[in-house]
Amino acid sequence: MSTMAAPENTPVWVNTDRCKACDICVDSCPAGVLSMKQEPTSVLGAMISIVAPESCIGCNECELVCPDFAIYVAEKKEFKFAKLTDASKARQEAIINNGWRLPEDYKEAN
Ligand code: SF4
Ligand code: SF4
Repeated sequence: MSTMAAPENTPVWVNTDRCKACDICVDSCPAGVLSMKQEPTSVLGAMISIVAPESCIGCNECELVCPDFAIYVAEKKEFKFAKLTDASKARQEAIINNGWRLPEDYKEAN
């Protein structure tokens, strides 16, 4: 099975050709990094979006739970990941409570 080449200086990235917008990775992320977004060209009308890459803690949950091998996380030796913060947790809660989508008017907690 082929995987995408790792883009430089990127904590997490997606092969959108494989993503079927199932929400599972969004649900699994502890740090509010992932969200679904509206995508009219996609069969399901939605697509995964990486909304807060700077909050990624490199836990690998998204990569582990994706049934379609569509999302990838950088190696720990190649990327300096963030620590889990209250602001990240609050963003994740807002995403889950809004049907796996970051609310358009979301304001970051401090
Ligand atoms: S590696 Fe962890 S923190 Fe980063 S996007 Fe995936 S689930 Fe979220
Ligand atoms: S788990 Fe995989 S297929 Fe499902 S939304 Fe995430 S990247 Fe897409």
